[in-house]
Amino acid sequence: DPLNHADYIRSRIRTVPDWPQAGVQFRDITPLLQDPKTFRVLVDVFVHRYMDQRIDLIAGLDARGFILGSVVAYELNIGFVPVRKKGKLPYTTVAEEYELEYGNATVEVHTDACQPGQRVVVLDDLVATGGTMMAGVKLLSRLGGEIVEAGAIVDLPELGGSQLIRQAGIPLFTLCDFA
Ligand code: AMP
Repeated sequence: DPLNHADYIRSRIRTVPDWPQAGVQFRDITPLLQDPKTFRVLVDVFVHRYMDQRIDLIAGLDARGFILGSVVAYELNIGFVPVRKKGKLPYTTVAEEYELEYGNATVEVHTDACQPGQRVVVLDDLVATGGTMMAGVKLLSRLGGEIVEAGAIVDLPELGGSQLIRQAGIPLFTLCDFA
């Protein structure tokens, strides 16, 4: 039952106050990965969600989206592509810049990361302001991908990102939230 899974996963996320700066409650997912039972429940929620949706490709966001995204893709027997922070990918890339609280950031994918018409799920660990997820979605869209859904383990609804993503017409699934 997905609700029980959500409660189970939520209860195992570690909250670190005032990290990386004062006022931020960092939602640390590393305990989910470290415990084998929890890791399996987490991955299986996403695998079961997408197994009958004819997904062609998982795009994972740098860096925690790689951990979730790659194992989900492996289990679905489909490909995985990394959406990386600027300057890390060796081949030709497309880039998308987005706003941070202070300044901005750029993410990139390889130009051949996705073929037009491929059905893509974009995964990350957490949606806060939604800037990172939207940038990833835009990159895969620019390559012609059909964004079936954006997915994350955690939503921080008070930061407005999940609302922004859904208002942009992108279906969003988050397993649990911290209000
Ligand atoms: P945003 O672009 O504002 O939605 O931020 C989402 C990205 O920043 C994700 O890749 C998260 O890993 C990270 N992030 C932002 N806020 C937090 C938080 N409170 N706890 C953990 N990770 C966070």
